[in-house]
Amino acid sequence: MNVVYPVSRRRFFGGVATAVGYLSLKPHLRLWSQGAAPARRSQTTVAEYDAMAKLANNENPYGPPESVLKAMTDAFKYANRYGYPDGGIVDAIAKHHGVPPENVMLGAGSGEILSIACTALLQDDKKVVGVEPSYNVLYQNAAALKADQIKLPLLKDYRQDIPAMIRAVKHNYRDVGFVYLCNPNNPTGRTVSKQEVAQLLDGIPDDVPVLIDEAYHHFVEDPSYATSLPYVLQGRQVIIARTFSKISALAGMRLGYAVAPRELLQRMRPFGTGTINAIVKWGGVAALNDTASQAWVKKVNNELRSKTTAQLHAMGYETIPSECNFFMVHIRKPVQPVIEEFRKKGVLVGRPFPPMLEHLRVSIGTPEEMGRFMTAFREIFPAGKAASGAK
Ligand code: PLP
Repeated sequence: MNVVYPVSRRRFFGGVATAVGYLSLKPHLRLWSQGAAPARRSQTTVAEYDAMAKLANNENPYGPPESVLKAMTDAFKYANRYGYPDGGIVDAIAKHHGVPPENVMLGAGSGEILSIACTALLQDDKKVVGVEPSYNVLYQNAAALKADQIKLPLLKDYRQDIPAMIRAVKHNYRDVGFVYLCNPNNPTGRTVSKQEVAQLLDGIPDDVPVLIDEAYHHFVEDPSYATSLPYVLQGRQVIIARTFSKISALAGMRLGYAVAPRELLQRMRPFGTGTINAIVKWGGVAALNDTASQAWVKKVNNELRSKTTAQLHAMGYETIPSECNFFMVHIRKPVQPVIEEFRKKGVLVGRPFPPMLEHLRVSIGTPEEMGRFMTAFREIFPAGKAASGAK
C-alpha cells in the first residue's frame, strides 16, 4: 500500500525534539517500569523501543496532523498557566456534539474519566457490571476501590451478552453503581449494535447509569453501530467517554472527555483533578476541526486491517471481526510465550486478555510495521503447521 503521510514529522515542536535528543544521548537510560507493554517492563532502552514495531497499545502510528502540531506549538507560550487560556476546548466539544457545555467534562485522557466514574459511582459498596474481557483498566480502578465487579462472559462470537447484562443488573439492582459498556469493545474490536444499546437501556431500571466507552468510535464502519450520544440529550443516565488518544494521535498528551447529563457530571466533577495538559487543549480544538486527517487515518487503518487479516486467513488463522485500530487472531496456543517470541523479533504485540488466552491482540501500525508483523508471524507459525489446525 502506498501511504502519503499527511503530516510532516520534521516540524515537530522544538521542546519535544530537544527532549528526544537528550534521551538519544543517553543510550543506557532505561524506560520506566510501569505500563501495559511487557517490553517496557523489561530492560529496553529508548533506542531499542524506537526501533520496534509498536503494535501493543492501539496507538496511532502516524502522530498528530500538521494542524494539531501547529495549534500546540503556538500554545506553548501558555505552558506556564494552569487552566486558562484553554483554546475554548469545552465549548468546541459541546458544539461538536450539539450539547450545552455543562454536559461536558474534560479528563487527562478518557482513562481519567473512567477512573472518576468509578470513584464517584462505586461508593457505598456499589458494583460495576460489564463483560470480560473488556478494557481492564476500568476493572482495575474498581478493584482499587474494593468495589465488586460482575464480569460476564462474551458470547461465542465474542459479542457482548446484552440480555445477560440486563439480568445481572436487575438481579443486583440497588447494588449496581453503573454498567460499563465498551463500544466497540477492547480487546475484541466488536461493536454493540444501536438496537442492542437501546435494548440494554430500556431493559434496566432508569436510574442505573451506563458508562459507554467510545474510545474507538472513529474507526467504525458497521452500519448497525451508532454513537450513544443522543441518549445524553434525552436525559438518560448515560455517560459517553471519548478520547483524543486514538484517531487524533494524542495519547501521550492526555486528553479525553465525558458527555453526560448535568446531574451525573455533578457527582463526578468533585473527583476530577483538573490536571489537563495546557497545550493539548489547543491541540484538541484543532483535532476536532481536522476531519480530513481523521478520515485519512480511518481509511488507511481499516485498509491495512483488512489486508493483514486476509493474509492471516490465507494462512489458516481466524480473526475476530474488528471495527477498531486493532484485531485479535486466534493462535490456538497459549499467547504469553508467543508475545515474547514476537518481542525477540522486534515486534511488540498486545498483552494477554484473560480468559481469551489463545488470542493475540495486534494493533494496526504503519504498513511497514504490519509487514514486519507478518514476517514475524510466518516465522513463528510456519505454514505447514498452521494449515493442520485450521478451522
Ligand atoms: N477506553 C478504552 C477502551 C481504551 O482502549 C483506552 C486506551 O487504550 C482508554 C479508554 C483510555 O485511553 P486514554 O486515557 O488515552 O484516553
